[in-house]
Amino acid sequence: MKFPIYLDCHSTTPLDPKVLEAMLPYLTTDFGNASSKSHCFGWKAESAVEKARERVAKLIGASAREILFTSGATESNNFVLQGVAEKYAHQGKHFITTQIEHKCILATAEYLEKKGFEVTYLPVDDTGMIRLEELEQAIRPDTVLVSIMAANNETGTIQPIAEIGKLCRERKVFFHTDAAQAVGKIPLHVRNMQIDLLSLSAHKFYGPKGVGAVYISRKEPRVELGPLLHGGGQEQGLRSGTLNVPGIVGLGMACEIAGAHLDTEVSRVSYLRDMLHNGLVAQIEGLTLNGNPQSRLPHSLNVSFPYVESDSLVGSLKNVAISSTSACMSAASVPSYVLAAMGLPPERIHGSVRFGLGRFTTEEEIVYTINTVSQIVHQLQKSSPLYQMRDARTQE
Ligand SMILES: *Cc1c(COP(=O)(O)O)cnc(C)c1O
Repeated sequence: MKFPIYLDCHSTTPLDPKVLEAMLPYLTTDFGNASSKSHCFGWKAESAVEKARERVAKLIGASAREILFTSGATESNNFVLQGVAEKYAHQGKHFITTQIEHKCILATAEYLEKKGFEVTYLPVDDTGMIRLEELEQAIRPDTVLVSIMAANNETGTIQPIAEIGKLCRERKVFFHTDAAQAVGKIPLHVRNMQIDLLSLSAHKFYGPKGVGAVYISRKEPRVELGPLLHGGGQEQGLRSGTLNVPGIVGLGMACEIAGAHLDTEVSRVSYLRDMLHNGLVAQIEGLTLNGNPQSRLPHSLNVSFPYVESDSLVGSLKNVAISSTSACMSAASVPSYVLAAMGLPPERIHGSVRFGLGRFTTEEEIVYTINTVSQIVHQLQKSSPLYQMRDARTQE
């Protein structure tokens, strides 16, 4: 077994060696600019980009001309929200999203609010799911876009995407989903699920960092967006700039691999995830699951340890890389807004930890993790005054 063990696949994933192999020629001999039309260097690069576009489209049930390459999901999300706002402001200035979106959606929504748009932030239930009735009630005549993430990056909770798509289509409102956590992990089909816009990111599913894509429906409905970057007219004039050919090839390969092994990978990784969960439940009294027990990403496990500060646990775990969701992005310790939106009490939020298994996680690593985490949790509990009081009471 190699240390440290990586169990933080929601924040990023390692590059699949097959992806790297596919990328290498485009970093060396085949370095052409995909926009160069006059020689074979350019043609080769262009044909590699178009092959990648087909692969991305195939994985999500789109057609190739509906895929634009970007630098990642942050850019795709900004592009969709700002693009729809600009192009459709004459139809309405109301957006609907949720309280548990990734920061790049929430921050863009706040930016639009400053620009005179109105945004409804839907609440979620205690498993992190939106309620369809609440979405239905929130849609108004001036609503132009519903943006709801496919799966949450902290809890792994999967939203009822097909039902949301159906509702938005009936009400003639565009539906965008930030699928950065879902693409390559669970089946997604933009046509069957009536998704009009979708964001994805290569580094969340074993591709390289700094490359992603946005799917923009081109028929029934056709979504029109203005240019994000002005310049040489690449990507149908919407996103100018020389294409990141090696990155795009890597994204294409990541899609190909994910699609080919989706079913077997879902069962393999959810088996290991459940083993981790059951192992921890057996060792740690009062452990609670955060997120939806059924509708959840197969590699996701978010749990709260009673009488433990997750920051102390994560800090003491030298050989296992995990994330404490209560830890924040800044120095100031703001507890997870996702778990807070689910209505979890502060002590559960402060004791929460996220495990993100992946393609390269082994059973051996899970066994090691169960034992180490349990040991440290027991140690930390013993030094907690609240735990000692509780212990004293139960012994009386
Ligand atoms: C990682 C992530 C993003 C940001 O993606 P980048 O490609 O890193 O910009 C956006 N949304 C969700 C849900 C994510 O998990």
